[in-house]
Amino acid sequence: MPERWFFESLYPDIKLGLKVNNILYQKQSRFQNIKIMETPRFGTVLVLDGAIQTTTGDEFIYHEMITHIPLFSHPNPQNVLIIGGGDGGVLREVLRHKTVEKVTLVEIDKQVIEYSQKYLRSITKDSFSSSRLELVIGDGAEFVKGKKAIYDVAIVDSPDPIGPAKVLFQKKFYTAIYNILKSDGIMVRQSGSTFLQKEELKENYRLLSRIFPYTAVYTASIPTYIGGLFSFIFSSKKIAPSKLNIKNIRTRYQKAKIKTKYYNPEVHSACFQLPNYVKKFVQGR
Ligand code: SAM
Repeated sequence: MPERWFFESLYPDIKLGLKVNNILYQKQSRFQNIKIMETPRFGTVLVLDGAIQTTTGDEFIYHEMITHIPLFSHPNPQNVLIIGGGDGGVLREVLRHKTVEKVTLVEIDKQVIEYSQKYLRSITKDSFSSSRLELVIGDGAEFVKGKKAIYDVAIVDSPDPIGPAKVLFQKKFYTAIYNILKSDGIMVRQSGSTFLQKEELKENYRLLSRIFPYTAVYTASIPTYIGGLFSFIFSSKKIAPSKLNIKNIRTRYQKAKIKTKYYNPEVHSACFQLPNYVKKFVQGR
C-alpha cells in the first residue's frame, strides 16, 4: 500500500505534511470541508477547508493557553462565551473551572461537534453533555449582536479568516464582543503564527486595541500550527495583563486544583513577554 500523506493548504508556499494511517471522515458540510484522519505522529487530526484545527497529540497546549490565561486573569469568571470551538477542547478546559456557572458555546457547524464527539473523544470528553452548557448552533457574529454585559470572559476559538470565520475578524464583531462583556470582562482570540500571519496578527491587534482599554499579545509554541511562536490576543476592559500579580494567579491556580500539561502560573507570566520582532510589528516599537 503506497504511503499516504496530508499536506496542509493554509499557505501557498509552505506546507506541513503529515503521514496518514487512516481517513476516518471526510465530507463537505454546509459550511466547510471536514476531514478527520489518524496519523502516527499527532494522533487524530481535525482539518477544516485544508487547515489543521486540532490534533489529539498537541491540542492540550492551545486549549489550555486560550482558556486558562483569561480565566485565571479574571477574579471570578462565572459566565463564559465560546465562539467556535466545535471540537470541544476549549469547552472541556472552561468546565474544569468550578467558578464557572454557565458556558455558552456558539458553533456554526453542528457536524464539527457531531464528528468531534465521534472521533475526537479524548478532546471533547463528555463536555457537550454538561448541564452548565448552553449550546447554540449559529453564526457567532450574529449571536453577539445587540447583547449587553452578560459574560465575564469571551473566547474566540475560530479558524483562520477563511469561509464562515471571516466575520469573526471584523471591527463590528469585536465591538459587539466588547458590549456583550461585563465591565471587567476579558476577550481572547487566536491570532495566528507570529511568523507566517504577521498581517493578520497586526490588523487584529490594531482593531482590538482601539476598542478595548487593554490589549496584549501572548504566545505559545504549538507544533501543528506551523510558523514558530503562535499568538493569542488578550483584550480587557479593566484587567491589564502587564499589571499581572503572579501571586494572585498562583493562588487561583492552586485553589482551582486543575491539573494542566502546559499552563502554569510562571508560563502565564512569561507568555506575555514578546521577542523584539513581534513587539515591533505589533506595537510599532
Ligand atoms: N483551534 C482552531 C484554530 O485555532 O484554528 C479552531 C478550532 S474550532 C474547530 C473552529 C470552529 O469555528 C469550527 O468548528 C468552525 O465551524 C467554527 N466557526 C467558523 N466560523 C464560525 C462562525 N462565524 N460562528 C461560529 N462558529 C464558527
